[in-house]
Amino acid sequence: MRAKRDSCLPISGLEPIEQEQWSVSNLMKDRVATTEKGFICLICGSSVVHEASMRRHLSDIHLHSHLRYRCPLCKKIYKNKNSLANHLYSYHKDVKGLDINKCICR
Ligand SMILES: [Zn+2]
Ligand SMILES: [Zn+2]
Repeated sequence: MRAKRDSCLPISGLEPIEQEQWSVSNLMKDRVATTEKGFICLICGSSVVHEASMRRHLSDIHLHSHLRYRCPLCKKIYKNKNSLANHLYSYHKDVKGLDINKCICR
């Protein structure tokens, strides 16, 4: 029997998050949910109580870096492909279809 094609399967979420047109205020509008308990960052799922903390979070975590990589499974954000690959390898090694070495090649 023939082996399956050895192609690089894209895994959604492994693409770098582009953020060139982002600014704290449009992230606050588009990517932050407001709840009774505070603010939730829809990009990474973090929640904070104060708007000011959310602004700082957006700025520190999502704007002040060139690109971020997000784990498709638990949505943690890593600042480079290698950290994400390490994370995937240590936490999601058993997940079927997640072949890190093949799938983060771009
Ligand atoms: Zn966030
Ligand atoms: Zn993960």
